[in-house]
Amino acid sequence: MCNCMNKVNQQLEKDGVNTRITIPFTFNFATGKLTTPRAVIETEKADPTKREKKKSFFATYCPVCGVKYDQPTAPENAEEVKS
Ligand SMILES: [Zn+2]
Repeated sequence: MCNCMNKVNQQLEKDGVNTRITIPFTFNFATGKLTTPRAVIETEKADPTKREKKKSFFATYCPVCGVKYDQPTAPENAEEVKS
């Protein structure tokens, strides 16, 4: 997995803006393990008068470098491997 989200957050911190990309913890109930953190695609209600909650989606590909999550990573974006 790439490390783009952390890199972007580090740059935002250097820029002094009070903003960071949300990196949610994701949990697989079937395996009981944390899964690869992914970017979240936020949405807004198409019809704000309806009470139904808006939906959010997890990205399949990194929105910064385009590498598919849970796939071999491009070397320039490789995350440090911890053993
Ligand atoms: Zn990336």
